[in-house]
Amino acid sequence: MKEIFRIAIDGPSGAGKSTIAKAVAAGLGIDYIDTGAMYRAVGYKVKDAGIDADDEGALKALLDETEIDFKQGDIILDGVVVNDKIRTPEISKMASIVSTKEPVRAKLVDIQRAMGSRKSVIMDGRDIGTNVFKDAEYKIFLTASVKERADRRYKELIEKGQDVEYEQIYSDIEARDYSDCTRKLNPLRKADDAVELDTTGLNIDQVVEKVMEIVR
Ligand code: C5P
Repeated sequence: MKEIFRIAIDGPSGAGKSTIAKAVAAGLGIDYIDTGAMYRAVGYKVKDAGIDADDEGALKALLDETEIDFKQGDIILDGVVVNDKIRTPEISKMASIVSTKEPVRAKLVDIQRAMGSRKSVIMDGRDIGTNVFKDAEYKIFLTASVKERADRRYKELIEKGQDVEYEQIYSDIEARDYSDCTRKLNPLRKADDAVELDTTGLNIDQVVEKVMEIVR
């Protein structure tokens, strides 16, 4: 194995990317970077500031005053831990909206490349293998059926005590898939050299083992 290597994990919402990436990172002793959390943090800030995401001037001014980092697994927005604030259905939608904006992608991709240039990382998102690290040593495209993904997301939010409806979660996932796959800038697609893993019907350990086999 090379001294510094990057593992790119892409796929649609709810395919299990972050759960799998966290476990693989722990197993290999490398850092995990959740790029979705970065888009969510920007979505949260845009919403909180009450600016219109279509107002490019206001968006750029906001981004100039935005710092995003990870510390011990926490996502830090302007010095404050925002782990829970960014995990609501409302912020999922905002993240999807701001992720279509060029200044947002440009800023976050720069930060992501800097994070992955110094040490080995496993990074998950939508455009890691196709854009952020086109030359990543390992690329995995994780998928699962819409129903399986909606089931998992519903269970996760209910366990966190959120008041959510299953039908709403299902249609939100379909809407985000559509937006992520059809947007002009770096849409979600499998890199030609990525290994596709369909996790429908598999448990976490089985998927982690498959990823570890690929990396080994
Ligand atoms: O992965 P997660 O669901 O937390 O991502 C939130 C949103 O951020 C996605 O729906 C997608 O629109 C956007 N995103 C992106 N590029 C990435 C990661 C996330 O556009 N690399």
